[in-house]
Amino acid sequence: MDKKQAKQEIDKLSKKINHHDYLYYALDKPEIADAQYDKLFRQLKDIEKEFPELLSPDSPTQRVGGQPLKSFKTYTHKKPLLSLDNAMNEEELLDFDRRVREGLDKAKIEYVCELKMDGLAVALVYEKGQLKIGSTRGDGVNGEDITQNLKTIRSIPLKLDKEVNLEVRGEVYLPYDDFIKLNEEREAEDEPKFANPRNAAAGSLRQLDSKITAKRPLDIYVYYAETHPKLKTHFETLEHIKKLGFKTNPNTKVCHGIEEVKKYIKHWETNREKLKYEIDGIVVKVNNLADQEKLGKTARAPRWAAAFKYPPMQAVTVIQDIKVQVGRTGAITPVAHLKPVHLAGVTVKRATLHNEDEVKRKGIKVGDHVIVQRAGEVIPEVVKVVKDKRTGHEKEFHMPKKCPVCGGELYRPEGEAITRCINARCSAQVIGRILQFCGREAMDIEHIGPALAEQLVEKKIVKDVADLYSLDKKDIQKLERFAEKSAQNVIDSVRGSKDKAHDRVLFGLGIRMVGRNVASLIAQHFDNLEDLFDIKTDKLTHIVGIGPKVAQSVEHFFAQKDNQQLVERLKKAGVNIKAAKAKGPQPLKGKTFVFTGGLEKITRPEAEELVRQLGGHPSSSVSKQTDYVVAGSEPGSKLEKARKLGVKIISEAQFRKILRST
Ligand SMILES: [Zn+2]
Repeated sequence: MDKKQAKQEIDKLSKKINHHDYLYYALDKPEIADAQYDKLFRQLKDIEKEFPELLSPDSPTQRVGGQPLKSFKTYTHKKPLLSLDNAMNEEELLDFDRRVREGLDKAKIEYVCELKMDGLAVALVYEKGQLKIGSTRGDGVNGEDITQNLKTIRSIPLKLDKEVNLEVRGEVYLPYDDFIKLNEEREAEDEPKFANPRNAAAGSLRQLDSKITAKRPLDIYVYYAETHPKLKTHFETLEHIKKLGFKTNPNTKVCHGIEEVKKYIKHWETNREKLKYEIDGIVVKVNNLADQEKLGKTARAPRWAAAFKYPPMQAVTVIQDIKVQVGRTGAITPVAHLKPVHLAGVTVKRATLHNEDEVKRKGIKVGDHVIVQRAGEVIPEVVKVVKDKRTGHEKEFHMPKKCPVCGGELYRPEGEAITRCINARCSAQVIGRILQFCGREAMDIEHIGPALAEQLVEKKIVKDVADLYSLDKKDIQKLERFAEKSAQNVIDSVRGSKDKAHDRVLFGLGIRMVGRNVASLIAQHFDNLEDLFDIKTDKLTHIVGIGPKVAQSVEHFFAQKDNQQLVERLKKAGVNIKAAKAKGPQPLKGKTFVFTGGLEKITRPEAEELVRQLGGHPSSSVSKQTDYVVAGSEPGSKLEKARKLGVKIISEAQFRKILRST
């Protein structure tokens, strides 16, 4: 292939890919299989690699940029982005319609109604069909140039079929499902969760490193474009830009007169929870562009548009029952069982009531009508009781005296909010402990999950984690949904866990307040878990990073004969409870690392494991004893603390350099 042919081929492939991106991301109507698409993409990448001089910034392969930015440049909008006047109720909406009719001297107005996305407003400037600048709304006059990040959004075309100069505006948002997933990941990584999808979208767009933005499945609906002389109405403009390759919201509708607008508003007020994304209201615009011109604008808002805001997403439902759940540590949590209700895109059946005091404080009774709210949170909460709806038949909730699972004693220490089941053999706790033991950061027995653990405990095949090592294939085959092969997988994965490092075993025991990092710290000082049997608190608090409460918890755990026997039985089964004799080099011995923010090349647990293998200690909190704070993207408050204490702060790249040099 010569250069000319390569250029032709690149153009052809880019066009094809852009077309399929449009079908897939903007219209949601893909015409080819993912594998075919990937093939086109690979072909293009290969040619671009061979002819780097032909690589253009609007190539579909260039959505994720190179180096992270130091900061965003300010971008002054050519035409300011106005805000809308909020019409909060029907009366104000009718007022708006009256002003428009009087201004235009018309009896009935044609409006366009649009869903008001709760995301982040952006402007996209195209020159000769190429995306040049993408910016935030900012204060309407000045925004930030976030072109690099907006390019990662696949429904934003990098190049249009026509060589037009054009500015479009739209709202970038994060769908609910992706928001929930993102927060789950952040929770697992010990990062602060985003309060709502809007914040998550905004936070993602304001990343200096577009590689991070690219990982967040952001999307956009375009709702405005500079007009074209041939177009007469706003709706035609939307149709026009849709054909150009932009994603417009399919729920946008032309309404004839304010009565139809009212119907549209009402319809979406009750149906908004069925949407995959959050909206906070409806935007009403005069459809005719000449009429828009005639009406003009005030200093801050157009006279031809208004926003109708919905109240926060709440729902009223009935508490049918309050049941308590028993956790791994025996903690008893009251949970409201609700009459199923649609809220923020999901059916809500349960709401946590946290603890006994919380139920009392909110005055919640079984049978009560309550307002539940999902303020972007995964687990909904009960906001308050609707007292007017009480019939007198509601029942007071009392914390049970006995554990609902095992019938054992419950105990609530003075000054604590949590009530616990103190029977160590309680099956809810046994199941929880098995899952802790089998977890990825403990023994990593991947074939034992919640369903199997429950069956094993309920059928009394397993009473504690040591029993896992005497499991028989036949026992498992008898259980639901197990054939010979799947049973063998379970046996194999249990067997394969025996030589895991002894700090993992310690963590797997599920001692209260002993997380992964504390377990490794203790294990560094005790080569044999048996040495902990008669451990005293003061011996543990000598270890930097172990506080008195943790020490007490460890002492208490190992003072129990049952727990000592458990460790002995694990040892007998062949589980490694001692530190490996031939330790590798320990160049990080005595060094403490704290990680904050997201890492690029490896996951947090992997990074911590590397530190451990080299004799260092990963910790979750910063103190004067911390040697290094590794700051990834979007670092949390730990970074601030490290600065205050004068702890050495390094980047992920520097961290990797330390690992390499050891
Ligand atoms: Zn119990």
